[in-house]
Amino acid sequence: MSKLLPTSTAGSLPKPSWLAEPEKLWSPWKLTGDELILAKQDALRVSLSEQIQAGVDIVSDGEQTRQHFVTTFIEHLNGVDFDKRETVRIRNRYDASVPTVVSEVSRTKPVFVEDAKFLRALTDRPIKWALPGPMTMIDTLYDAHYKSREKLAWEFAIALNQEAKELEAAGVDIIQFDEPAFNVFFDEVNDWGVATLERALEGLKCETAVHICYGYGIKANTDWKQTLGSEWRQYEEAFPKLQKSKVDIISLECHNSRVPMDLIELIRGKKVMVGAIDVANHTIETAEEVADTLRKALQFVDADKLYPSTNCGMAPLPRHVARGKLQALSGGAEIIRKELVGL
Ligand code: ZN
Repeated sequence: MSKLLPTSTAGSLPKPSWLAEPEKLWSPWKLTGDELILAKQDALRVSLSEQIQAGVDIVSDGEQTRQHFVTTFIEHLNGVDFDKRETVRIRNRYDASVPTVVSEVSRTKPVFVEDAKFLRALTDRPIKWALPGPMTMIDTLYDAHYKSREKLAWEFAIALNQEAKELEAAGVDIIQFDEPAFNVFFDEVNDWGVATLERALEGLKCETAVHICYGYGIKANTDWKQTLGSEWRQYEEAFPKLQKSKVDIISLECHNSRVPMDLIELIRGKKVMVGAIDVANHTIETAEEVADTLRKALQFVDADKLYPSTNCGMAPLPRHVARGKLQALSGGAEIIRKELVGL
């Protein structure tokens, strides 16, 4: 990016109410068949246009074509039975009914490649595309086949790498892997989590990112945050290994969180997507609040490596709130750009 402080979102944006029930995760679609396909494309157009109007520099599909950031990818793979469900504890935090791995997993067809081509044809702006990371994928499943979290993660990394290479060929500029599980399973992150992430991005020439957050603003996550104490130092566990990894950009949560800003020092040299928008409440930040978060981050990341962003996806928020938050993000970035140029 040649523009200083290019803005982006962590991923999902709210869906229109004619496509899916609003303000809900795993919201069922309101249409079926060809009508659904066309409606998803229309929603993608709307989401892109809202991002452009709000001044977002690196745009995305707003995840309009997927029901959920993890399960939609898994649905397209072989070896996972969605009718055979088990209740598991997701990220040690909440129970969910999840599909079962019943045999070897493989990707026999593209998942998001057509959607990415569709978005590419609509805009000249840089595009970022989010995929789930291997560790977060295994945490959203019941494994009755491999019986090993690590083995399954390596298999998913291969499938993700195949998808990522085709997304790159479709013109995606940044491929992001969402790994909220990196904030929970610290031993596994260091044993094989970062290694499987690197397998997923192996051979890519486009930029790569990993998004690590404290989750959507849903109750299970906000309750969990209450237990984390006055300082959230979870990033401290994964950052040293990520600093040495091949990933180009690290996307993290900063605004309104209790993450000590100086932890960013641990990934010095990487580009940092700084979450300057809280997705867990409906209060729209002011541009000055965003600027304040960015100013603090600038103590630990060079200006040419700072990418203002949101803490996490905004799928569960009302649309007008998400729009307002995107505008605040652009406004805050502009304040800091002017300050930096004035130096
Ligand atoms: Zn997130």
